[in-house]
Amino acid sequence: MSATNGPGISERRLVPIGSVYMTNRKKVFVFKCTERPCNRKTYTRMYDLRRHYDGAHASQGPKFWCPYEGCERSARGGGPSFPRKDKLKDHVRSMHNGGD
Ligand SMILES: [Zn+2]
Ligand SMILES: [Zn+2]
Repeated sequence: MSATNGPGISERRLVPIGSVYMTNRKKVFVFKCTERPCNRKTYTRMYDLRRHYDGAHASQGPKFWCPYEGCERSARGGGPSFPRKDKLKDHVRSMHNGGD
């Protein structure tokens, strides 16, 4: 184990979620999703990339898709899915005037 690995996290557990690019303007960075389907998507804040990754690519945990066909957050619509059931409920309530 090398000392550069941070707080005891094994290299094998590190998952790349994108790349960071420096621009020609100082302190301006671009965060890019490196997953194949969205190779050209870029974000100016790491937070946004992170949020995108969590919604679209994070594989841990269950995914909740909107049950309404044609909705962009349904499995067919391409997502992103919801990481939590209550988030999906909120979505259904506000977007489709529905409850359960
Ligand atoms: Zn992506
Ligand atoms: Zn929906």
